Amino acid sequence: MVIAIDGPAGSGKSTTAKNVAEKLGFIHINTGAMYRGIALKCIQEDVDMEDAAQLNHLLACTKFEFAAEGELALFMDGVDISSEITSVEVTDVVSQVSAISQVREKLVQYQRKMAEGLNVVLEGRDIGTVVFPNAHHKFFLVADIHERARRRKKEMEAKGEVVSLEELAEEMLERDRKDSTRKHSPLKKAEDAVEIDTTGISIEEQVNRIVEIVNKTIK
Ligand code: C5P
Repeated sequence: MVIAIDGPAGSGKSTTAKNVAEKLGFIHINTGAMYRGIALKCIQEDVDMEDAAQLNHLLACTKFEFAAEGELALFMDGVDISSEITSVEVTDVVSQVSAISQVREKLVQYQRKMAEGLNVVLEGRDIGTVVFPNAHHKFFLVADIHERARRRKKEMEAKGEVVSLEELAEEMLERDRKDSTRKHSPLKKAEDAVEIDTTGISIEEQVNRIVEIVNKTIK
């Protein structure tokens, strides 16, 4: 079974997807982390994103693996990149990287393969529209921008990083703008997705709403 969770930046996808997967005993695939991984590698290897040959080479020799070690960790080519991919440098370029059709084709193929034959919760921007248009369940999370910025600030503070609420809100709105106006697989709600506004509701409530809907079809 495939459960698709899409939505804009900071709408609560990762925490919700992780908890839903845990409750149902499903695998959790964070596709945003994979786009961030490619962005990180472009920075590390000084790859010219306009150069199709360089990008192709990079994409062909990149391997991803999610390992459940406490918080879900993403390994790229055997190295744990979970903390590096949330850096400001990566966040600044990830929307540019993820708008490139070559990158999308490769990662969508990779994501479908990772999920093959498994019970999975995939979170991202295009899961219900492109990666798994026939997903058994589709959810689209939204939340007020002030709340999204507050949540991100809390996460960053936990890592010892200080950024103002205004800066965070601006960064998220700009990323949403880029993600929803790009030509390939833009961020948008699938017609048959259930929309959940997570403003003012607890994580437990978000998770329970999804689990209840899914459980009705399992039992
Ligand atoms: O989910 P997260 O905010 O970490 O995603 C980072 C970026 O990766 C998004 O802003 C978007 O540009 C890209 N992304 C995407 N398609 C997905 C998941 C993420 O384009 N399925």
